Amino acid sequence: MRALADQRDIVPATDPDAGGHRSVAVVGAGITGLVAAYELRRRGVNVTLYEASGHAGGAIRTSRTDGFLAEHGPNSFVTSPPVEALLTQLDLQDDVVEANPSANRRYIVRDGTLRAFPMTPPAMLTTRLFSLRAKLRVLLEPLVRRRTTDGDESVASFVRRRLGPEVLDYAVDPFVSGIFAGDTETLSMVHAFPRLFELEQQHGSLSAGLMATRGRMPATSAPTDSPTDEATDEAELPETASAPANRARLISFVDGMQTLTEALEASLAGTLRLGCPVRLLHRDEGRWVVEAGQDGGARSRTVDAVVMATPAHVLAAMELPAAMRKHAALVERVEYPPVSTLTLGFERSDVAHALDGFGMLIPAKEKRSILGALFSSSLFPERAPDGHVAITCFVGGARMPERAREDTDLLVERVLIDLRQLLGVRGEPVFAKHVYWPRAIPQYTVGYQAVKHAVDETELANPGLYLAGNYRNGVSVGDCVASGQQIAQRVTSYLTRAG
Ligand SMILES: Cc1cc2nc3c(=O)[nH]c(=O)nc-3n(C[C@H](O)[C@H](O)[C@H](O)COP(=O)(O)OP(=O)(O)OC[C@H]3O[C@@H](n4cnc5c(N)ncnc54)[C@H](O)[C@@H]3O)c2cc1C
Repeated sequence: MRALADQRDIVPATDPDAGGHRSVAVVGAGITGLVAAYELRRRGVNVTLYEASGHAGGAIRTSRTDGFLAEHGPNSFVTSPPVEALLTQLDLQDDVVEANPSANRRYIVRDGTLRAFPMTPPAMLTTRLFSLRAKLRVLLEPLVRRRTTDGDESVASFVRRRLGPEVLDYAVDPFVSGIFAGDTETLSMVHAFPRLFELEQQHGSLSAGLMATRGRMPATSAPTDSPTDEATDEAELPETASAPANRARLISFVDGMQTLTEALEASLAGTLRLGCPVRLLHRDEGRWVVEAGQDGGARSRTVDAVVMATPAHVLAAMELPAAMRKHAALVERVEYPPVSTLTLGFERSDVAHALDGFGMLIPAKEKRSILGALFSSSLFPERAPDGHVAITCFVGGARMPERAREDTDLLVERVLIDLRQLLGVRGEPVFAKHVYWPRAIPQYTVGYQAVKHAVDETELANPGLYLAGNYRNGVSVGDCVASGQQIAQRVTSYLTRAG
């Protein structure tokens, strides 16, 4: 590989903004790469941001057609202090829209009926989502001994052990589908839900841990929030236990999620190379040579450091130095099951359900085509024209990967069967937007420590090379923002040390 790389022409950077002593290539202009590039630039580093596709934003993309706003990927995210700081720096606070307070109501489907998820202890006692036996089992949770054996444990095993099978099937399974589009039997508890895992480790039980951490958990979170946003924690938290003064907000933007990536893109004018996939990396006299571009038009550039902010599997298709390839083999095998998002618009009078909540999550036991659906036009304003509603459905994931791959007509047909039975939808949709993600969200499966170790080893063996993205520190948009900021900080320290 090195020999091949050495034969290429190294074209010196011509623009003054690159090729200097403190120059960094960021590969991948999803939210992680955009934030990393933005933060590096803010710190005075010369950045070149390479993006394989024709647009920045990665999984974040919004379209508006005939008055319907469709999010292709994430619909909302939970803020944190780093996110709030970024929104302020980008002057986006006025564009932010907070989710309607009714978003606190999340429906779970059981026996074909929508049941509000109980958010308070009294609601837990009276809910019809769980049987009496399941409620008693939850009450016994403090008495369940802490797991003492070493080794990774699946989410399913952890929840069965602590809370019983019914809570697994009708609470955790649907929430896990909402966050990871994943399978509780294969996801790792410690890696997918580190804070819940820690509660057991530190306090002996989830109940004791939640009591001890009252007020320190985020106020609200989205079904697709990551481990560190603790969607499941919140599900088990009494509502009154959250809402500190600087609470986490569940937000989007007036014109949708793309507002965030567009603002970052605008602030990076001159540094972004669209349609410019990076194909090769190699080390040369303590610096990094990055070869990027379409077939025939590839150009090389030498920089001081590289941030790889692509999905993990991208590494498989790249020419890499041997010291990187050795560890990358594990990283590039991270699974990303496919997901289709289908935003459907209806006349309001054609939907019987009040759509008064965040949306509905559907347990695997219910054997439906949809993993979950967001009541988009209830969540945020101006998602549908007057007199209409928009519902965003998620299909596929680890549960039913083949369903995600179906063509639009078949998908609409299947989804409509569910929506008619569950939400009382009549008539035909007046709007449909289907987006297929062949590799949607990385799965933090049992044994994921080996992947994290390989990522660390890759960096250790390749000074000046950094890996970031949603396969490393959490899958939510908020996690990716934090990941981009942290990696920029590490790169800056490296550049300072390297002189
Ligand atoms: C359908 C869906 C719904 C989601 N919903 C939510 C939600 O509601 N809330 C939430 O918080 N999170 C949600 N997520 C998760 C979140 O959106 C993602 O984890 C996050 O956006 C990933 O950002 P990233 O920058 O790490 O990766 P990506 O967005 O995947 O960006 C990586 C970029 O790298 C580029 N690239 C690849 N190869 C190369 C190469 N060789 N050279 C240059 N560039 C390359 C790609 O084109 C891409 O633009 C959702 C994700 C999906 C897919």
